[in-house]
Amino acid sequence: MKEIRKDPFTGHWVVFNSALRDKIFEFWKDRHYETPKIEKCSFCEGNESETPSETMAYRHSGTQSNKPGWWIRIFENKGAVLQPDEDLDRHPIGMYDVTTGFGIHEIIVETPKHLTQLEELPFGQVRDVLWAFKERISALKKDPRLKYVTIFKNFGLGTFGSMEHSHSQLLATPIIPRKIKDELMQSKDYYQDKERCLFCDVIKQESRMKERVIFETDNMIVISPFAALSPYEMFILPKKHNHLFEEINPPEANDLTDTVIIALKKLAKLLSVPPYTLTVHTAPNLINRPGYWSTIMFDFHWHIEISPRLYRMSGLEWGTGFFFNPILPEIAAEELKNTVI
Ligand SMILES: [Zn+2]
Ligand SMILES: [Zn+2]
Ligand SMILES: [Zn+2]
Repeated sequence: MKEIRKDPFTGHWVVFNSALRDKIFEFWKDRHYETPKIEKCSFCEGNESETPSETMAYRHSGTQSNKPGWWIRIFENKGAVLQPDEDLDRHPIGMYDVTTGFGIHEIIVETPKHLTQLEELPFGQVRDVLWAFKERISALKKDPRLKYVTIFKNFGLGTFGSMEHSHSQLLATPIIPRKIKDELMQSKDYYQDKERCLFCDVIKQESRMKERVIFETDNMIVISPFAALSPYEMFILPKKHNHLFEEINPPEANDLTDTVIIALKKLAKLLSVPPYTLTVHTAPNLINRPGYWSTIMFDFHWHIEISPRLYRMSGLEWGTGFFFNPILPEIAAEELKNTVI
């Protein structure tokens, strides 16, 4: 089965070829995730002096900053790709655009214990991780220099300098990342054309067709997107329209916690704990830019994307911008739906 589908969220084209499915699984089948043996980990409780000072933490009362007694702890990334103390300056070099390396790059440690998998943490702990995302995004959006706050989690990718202790990262930047910008523009165009939210329309259509719905709860729906950019990709969407993740209320946060835990457990069970990225997509900072994104509260819809990384991007992706996926989203949804956790 070969088919090329257009992703309505980004405009990217995805080449589906199920003949290559076995090849991917042959590469994958002998792999089993093993908790890495780490003798000394700076993210563990008790090793606070080895990290930069915390910018926020959830701690037991009576405990001091940068000392034990926390259950979630956030601090600047030692290997930060951007620096908060740089001045923000945008300037041209001839025809080229340059911005200084101003920005904020933080680590969100999701548990004081040396555990690696987010979905194995207790419910209350995962909920507080999501709540910390919300609090940190809200706080950083008060700075008008920061146009976007991205929260992402890399699991099991073995990337340079990565730590296995369960954590997420936050990147607040004076520019909007390209992939988000693509999504924002697609949603804006769709709204201008139809006067409806693209994501709400996708939710309606997927609920009716059912073939790409993995599961749903009272407030959330989890789908395999029609033109998933990677195999077994999942989108978690709130059923109630809102452009801002950071406006999530406590009952929605509880529901989202269940949803994230179930989604990650299904993925871990079906694919023997695969590497994945999880990203939160919310609207950009609208301070000082009221005109530019004038319909954003109607046209954008926050969501979480979970993308397993079963293989590296190939020359096809790098060279052409086409994505390649051997698993049709309908099949991925069926398999994930039937995975009992
Ligand atoms: Zn640790
Ligand atoms: Zn919507
Ligand atoms: Zn997105």
